[in-house]
Amino acid sequence: MILPSPTSRHYVPITTIGMTLATTCIALLADLYDLTRLDTAAERCWSIFINVMAGVFIGGPCSYLFARRSQRLTRERLELERIATTDGLTAVLNRGAFTMLVEAYLNEAGKNKLPVEGALLLVDADHFKTINDSHGHQAGDRVLKMIAASINGNLRTSDLVGRLGGEEFGVFLPATEAPDAFRIAERIRCSVRAGDAAGIRMDNVTVSVGGATFRGAVSYERLFALADMLLYEAKAAGRNCVRMREHDRNRMTQPAG
Ligand code: GH3
Ligand code: MG
Ligand code: MG
Repeated sequence: MILPSPTSRHYVPITTIGMTLATTCIALLADLYDLTRLDTAAERCWSIFINVMAGVFIGGPCSYLFARRSQRLTRERLELERIATTDGLTAVLNRGAFTMLVEAYLNEAGKNKLPVEGALLLVDADHFKTINDSHGHQAGDRVLKMIAASINGNLRTSDLVGRLGGEEFGVFLPATEAPDAFRIAERIRCSVRAGDAAGIRMDNVTVSVGGATFRGAVSYERLFALADMLLYEAKAAGRNCVRMREHDRNRMTQPAG
C-alpha cells in the first residue's frame, strides 16, 4: 500500500484508520488463545466485541493524536529546512544551500564518471552601490527581487539559482551545452535590462555575467574561480555583458554580448 505523504491532507485520516485497524487486529490476535477456552458462543462474541471496542475507542484516538503530531512535526521540519536554505529577501536559495546542491551534483557526476555537461553563471548587478545611494536601500532591495525574478523567469525547473552575497547571484545549469548556457545568460541579461519582472519596474538596471561551462568531472571551486574571473572580465569590458568559457580549455564559447 502506498502511504500518503505526512504533509498531505489524507495523511491523518488514512493513518488513523490504518493504525486503528492494526491495533484492533493485534488485540484480537493477542486474545485468540483465551477465545478458544471460552465455553459459549455468547462469551466469545462478548470477548471479540470488547477487543474491537478497545481497538476503536483506545487505539483510534491514540492513532489520531499520533498522526496529527507527526504531521505537525513534519511540516515544522520542512518549514525550518526552507528557512535555512532560502534567501529571505529574494526567496532563491541562499549561498550555503546553492553551494551544497551544486557540489553534490558535481561530486555525484564525478564519482559515477557520468558524461555530464553544464554551466555555472555568476550574475552581478552593475553599479549597485549607486542605485542604493541615489534611490535608497529599499529601492535597492526591490531591484534585487527584480533581478531574482528575471533570472527565475529564464530557467528550467532543473536549474538552480542562489543569492551568493549582496548583489551577486549564482545560476547552475545542469545538462546544458555551452551555446545554450550562453543563450540563457544573454536572456537573463536582456530581461534584467528590460527592467520589468515580478511587477517591479526599474529602468537602467543592468547585470554582468561570468559563466564557466564544463564537460566531464570538475570541482565546484575550479568552476567558481573561472566564472568569477570571467565576471571581472565582463565588468572590465564595460559591464552589461556576458563572458563565458569552458573550464578545462579556457576557450571562448561565444563572442561576448
Ligand atoms: P560593480 O558594478 O563593480 O559590481 O559595482 P557595485 O556597486 O555593484 O558593487 P559594490 O561591491 O561596490 O557594491 C555592492 C553594494 O551592494 C554595496 C552594498 O551596500 C549593497 N548591498 C549588499 N547587500 C544588499 C542588500 O541586501 N540590499 C541592498 N539594498 N543593498 C545591498
Ligand atoms: Mg555589483
Ligand atoms: Mg558584487
